[in-house]
Amino acid sequence: MSRTRFDAIAESHKRNRINIEEKGRRSELFGQNVFNEERMLQYLTKEAHSSVKAAIFSGSKIDRKIADQVAEAMKTWAISMGATHYTHWFQPLTGATAEKHDAFFDLLPNGKGMEKFGGGQLVQQEPDASSFPSGGIRNTFEARGYTAWDPTSPAFIYGTTLCIPTIFVSYTGEALDNKAPLLRALHAVDEAATAVAKYFDKNVTKVNATLGWEQEYFLVDKALAHSRPDIIMTGRTLSGHSAAKGQQLDDHYFGVIPNRVIRFMSDLEQECTKLGIPVKTRHNEVAPNQFELAPVFEEANLAVDHNLLLMDVMEKVADKHSFKVLFHEKPFAGINGSGKHNNWSLATDTGVNLLSPGSTPMKNLQFLTFFVNTIKAVDTYEELLRSSIASASNDHRLGANEAPPAILSIFIGAQLSDVLDELEGVSQGKLSPQEKTELKLNVVGKIPEILLDNTDRNRTSPFAFTGNKFEMRGVGSKTNCAKPMTILNAIMAKQLIAFKKEVDILMDKKNLKKDEAVFNVLREYIKTSKRIRFDGDGYSTEWEKEAKRRKLSNNKNTPEALQVLTSKASLELFKSMDVMSEVEVKARQEVELEAYIFHIQIEGRVFNEIVNNHILPSSIAYQNKLIDNVTGLKEIFGAAHKKLSDGQLTIIEQIAEHIAEVKKKVDAMTDARKSANTITNIDKKARAYCDNVRPYFDEIRYHCDKLEQLVDNQIWPLTKYRELLFIK
Ligand code: ADP
Ligand code: MG
Repeated sequence: MSRTRFDAIAESHKRNRINIEEKGRRSELFGQNVFNEERMLQYLTKEAHSSVKAAIFSGSKIDRKIADQVAEAMKTWAISMGATHYTHWFQPLTGATAEKHDAFFDLLPNGKGMEKFGGGQLVQQEPDASSFPSGGIRNTFEARGYTAWDPTSPAFIYGTTLCIPTIFVSYTGEALDNKAPLLRALHAVDEAATAVAKYFDKNVTKVNATLGWEQEYFLVDKALAHSRPDIIMTGRTLSGHSAAKGQQLDDHYFGVIPNRVIRFMSDLEQECTKLGIPVKTRHNEVAPNQFELAPVFEEANLAVDHNLLLMDVMEKVADKHSFKVLFHEKPFAGINGSGKHNNWSLATDTGVNLLSPGSTPMKNLQFLTFFVNTIKAVDTYEELLRSSIASASNDHRLGANEAPPAILSIFIGAQLSDVLDELEGVSQGKLSPQEKTELKLNVVGKIPEILLDNTDRNRTSPFAFTGNKFEMRGVGSKTNCAKPMTILNAIMAKQLIAFKKEVDILMDKKNLKKDEAVFNVLREYIKTSKRIRFDGDGYSTEWEKEAKRRKLSNNKNTPEALQVLTSKASLELFKSMDVMSEVEVKARQEVELEAYIFHIQIEGRVFNEIVNNHILPSSIAYQNKLIDNVTGLKEIFGAAHKKLSDGQLTIIEQIAEHIAEVKKKVDAMTDARKSANTITNIDKKARAYCDNVRPYFDEIRYHCDKLEQLVDNQIWPLTKYRELLFIK
């Protein structure tokens, strides 16, 4: 539906006066709508409960009889909560979540109805999958796909539907989603990290990757958003002159949250709490109308599900409050865009954070082991990790001097740099008792337990150590965290396996003690992974040059960044870690490239429409008004009109110039699009969209924004930045 700009503004003003009540105590609500541990104990037999727990802990299979019991229990609980339907909830490669609802209701042969939900329906469902992207997997292999229960992420009730988190795979077993590869990567890192953690504590039997995301987003009044076809169709503004006031006063960041937004947030937090999402922090972000929400960190698979669920819930709650939430990485030019920091660590089942320095030298050696191995893994696979956050919309941010650059590097801070420098000097082979004491007391022993204050300073780093976790900062606000988490955990698994092998060889063949062997291998890693460490200004041009010297990749756009997915080294990594087969990787690459093309294509089309149907007609209308005015002046004053219509004539001329440029460039863009569309090779087509179509956007925008400044405010058809961006 299209509205006039002024109707939308009037509607938005009315909304500001509507009050929405606050309710509820947080702790009482937590997990109310989740089939969690408490509910399982209440509803499951002992046998079923331990079977589900074993599946969560070690990935063991749940047999059909038990699945029937679990299904029965879930159904009983869900119906008691007022649920009428169930759905398998999954993450197709579109990046969003998908669901297909079925009623619990079934007909008996005698014609009577009953509520039915068995193990079969719990374990597996067959959505009509033909319209989800598969990168050709389904054509080449099997036409059908099915969803399968992931018992490690608890079922929850949303609205009146019991949602069962599932993976989505083809009948031949290829992953058609983002969750299946993530689960495989988490399994790989669990095994690899557990084996290494056992060097330091024999009691460790499981290691979980942990993830704490920080979701940034914009809120725009719903009526205003709907007055802009670009926001509705592409999630961002394609044109719009900057408001006189943007973020230059820094008065929004951590400022007082507007009342209307507070009401939305508290409603949202209440919904999240019921769904077991442990939301904790909320604040204003840097840009006007920009906010952030962060939960307490959780096991990575669960955290990913919770982030996706949050985004879904947010859209619904925003709608209720007459807001539109924008997850696009760059909805507005000239002010900051949105990201989603991914805080990541590894935690043992003995309650230890493996990236947290401890109070004893041995604990610190364990910390250093995981710390240095992370650095090594990221150094080896920096380009692959960067590819995991590539998307058309995130291209606006990476390298745009507000978010980390497209170059991956690691910030560890001065204190830990000193420690690594000292470790680098350790002599090879056996250590003398003196060296050992020196190392333990003065190097390893000196790592303070609380590094937090000293490490979190460099906000320009894309991968920063922040005291007890690494923080990956280039992730886009829209991105499914499963993508970077799959890569990060897979490369870490691969790295830890290599590490263990090297240490074991030194112990077996060279007779080194365990700590000596560990020191020796770490020293080599510190030496060989130095290029990835960078503590300086990641936004500077010097760094770009320096990174090039260091042979770090700098892929500035998505088609370029995605290339590495199918390199020999990447395919080998995915295969050896059992994360993805070659077919799956290739399919994924194709899906991502396709998504990129569609994205730019849609933007091009919408821009075309905005220019031809909105901006040009209004500009011409205003120009005609001026022309009438000048003609009138001429009629009244005759030859003397020249002096009087000087200003008008200048504006008429300027408008004419910008109109000519806009028209020329929009037509050229359309031609570039047509020619890109004839390309059949998907990679070349994506590059054509990237190199030949996309550059026009900024050029067209420049002239549109000039026109916005020239044309009568009463005539301008598109809601302006100053109207969109300042919620009261
Ligand atoms: P900011 O980056 O905005 O300064 P913080 O540094 O406080 O914020 O980041 C906090 C985030 O880090 C939270 O989402 C929190 O859950 C997460 N976090 C804290 N510890 C861990 C951990 N061990 N593993 C993963 N995430 C963690
Ligand atoms: Mg952060």
